[in-house]
Amino acid sequence: MTRAVYVNGAYRPYADAAVHVEDRGFQFADAVYEVIEVKARALVDATRHLDRLATSLAALSIPAPMSNAAWRLVIAETVRRNRVADGLVYLQVSRGAHPRDFLFPPAGTPPTVVCLARSIPQAKRAARAARGISVQTAPDIRWHRSNIKTVMLLPASLAKEAAKAAGADDAWFVDADGHVTEGASSNAWIVDREGRLVTRALGPALLPGITRRTLLDLLAREGIALVERPFTVAEAQTAREAFTTSATSLVMPVVAIDGRSIANGEPGTLTLRLRTLFHEVAEHTPLS
Ligand code: PMP
Repeated sequence: MTRAVYVNGAYRPYADAAVHVEDRGFQFADAVYEVIEVKARALVDATRHLDRLATSLAALSIPAPMSNAAWRLVIAETVRRNRVADGLVYLQVSRGAHPRDFLFPPAGTPPTVVCLARSIPQAKRAARAARGISVQTAPDIRWHRSNIKTVMLLPASLAKEAAKAAGADDAWFVDADGHVTEGASSNAWIVDREGRLVTRALGPALLPGITRRTLLDLLAREGIALVERPFTVAEAQTAREAFTTSATSLVMPVVAIDGRSIANGEPGTLTLRLRTLFHEVAEHTPLS
């Protein structure tokens, strides 16, 4: 249950937490966000998430509303007020509210800032990972700057809705060349037929996932080689293993793509090993 939400400098009861109707996030999707995992009353990889938030803001020339130290205080207080032990923190910053105009509001218009914290039942998460998820692919109809974490999430929403209607758990985006760009809200990985771990190289077509980044540290520690290259849907369907990464799903086994089972249809061995080891390399910042 969400009890209190940080909105523009104040903690508001959930039912009253609101932003202005002329907010740029509402009218133009002119806003960026972050989702950070909370695990055992600690923030996971907060440094990298706050750094990416700063990068997203800079990419759109939205002034940073506060320092990273101030963000940490706001996050800690929001988590405390909502009694979250395991769950997530959601941060959103828009360019602020101003009478509707395509041009940016005048310099000095304060950005709109929201921080939410929410519990996620751990058992539900674990059960999903033990089972693995099915994904359905969708054409990647997003813009050419998918590396910026904006709230322009309608293509992801449509793709996930279509996946659900087809009986799948999640969606993967496929570019015009038939290569998987990433998941609708995750990065996509396979273990190819030669046993090599593969994920697409970073670029404007996909989000530089923080879970992806931290997994690279784990791979280095474990001496596991990674090949960064594009892969097709057909290659993923005939791969040994497939999985996605994100702050909320961590390392999530993918057991079917477009109705076709991956290998024996069970979560992969390497996938589950990486999932188990992930938090050993992630940064943990205790909150209380
Ligand atoms: N790609 C997209 C499109 C996403 O929305 C997300 C999750 N926000 C990710 C990748 C994974 O990023 P992270 O590991 O930082 O959660």
